[in-house]
Amino acid sequence: MNIKEILQQTSNVDVILKIRDYKSTFISVLKTRSKLQISLHKLFLDSPDDVKKAVISYCLKRDKKSHLQIKTYAYKYFETADYTHRLDVKKLKSKGICFDLKHIMENLNLIYFKDSLNLSITWFEKPKYTKFRHFTFGSFDKSLKLVRINALLDNSNFPFYFINYIVYHEMLHAMYPEKIDENGKRKIHTPFFKKKEKEFAYYRDSQEFEKKFLKKRKFYGWT
Ligand SMILES: [Zn+2]
Repeated sequence: MNIKEILQQTSNVDVILKIRDYKSTFISVLKTRSKLQISLHKLFLDSPDDVKKAVISYCLKRDKKSHLQIKTYAYKYFETADYTHRLDVKKLKSKGICFDLKHIMENLNLIYFKDSLNLSITWFEKPKYTKFRHFTFGSFDKSLKLVRINALLDNSNFPFYFINYIVYHEMLHAMYPEKIDENGKRKIHTPFFKKKEKEFAYYRDSQEFEKKFLKKRKFYGWT
C-alpha cells in the first residue's frame, strides 16, 4: 500500500510527502487550498496496512481515532527502536566529583539485573530551578539507552545509597518499559514497577531521604 499514491488519488490537491526520522513529531499535516503537505516518520513506510489506512485517514480528516492508532503504533515502535548510533559517547560525563555513575551502574547491573542491561550514563546540568516541583533527579532515554542524572546530586550532601537509588530507578525504566493503555495514555510507574523498586536494599532510607531533602531544599539553595 502506497500512502502517497492513495492520498493523491483521494484528495483533489497536490500531495507533498516528506519522510523524516525525528522522534518527537512522527506525523504532521498542513492543509492549504492547493496542497496537502505531510511530514511523516519513516517507520510508517513499513507499517501494516491498517496503520497505513489510519495515516491516510488522519491526513484527510484529522480524526481522533486514527491519531490514537498511529500514536499507539509509534510508541510501540520507539520502544524497540535503537538510536544509540546517534549518541556522542565523548560528550558523556559519568565521573563526578563525589560519585562515579558508571561504576554505580555497573554494580547495580550485577546485583539487580544479572548484568543484562547495556546502557550509557551521564550527569546532566540544567541552569536554574525556579520551580522546585519540577526538579528531576534523573531520566531515561530509551532510544539512546541513556540514563541521565542531575549533576546537582554530585554533592556530599547526598548519601551514596540515594544516588544508587536514583540510578536503580532509571535502570528499572530500561528493564520495564512504559505501557500504553487502551485510551492511548502512558503508564509509567505501574504497580509492578513500584514493586520492583522496593527490591532495592535501601529503598526505605532513600524514600525518607527524598522526603527530608524536599523539605530542606532551601538549605541546599535550590528554591
Ligand atoms: Zn520514573
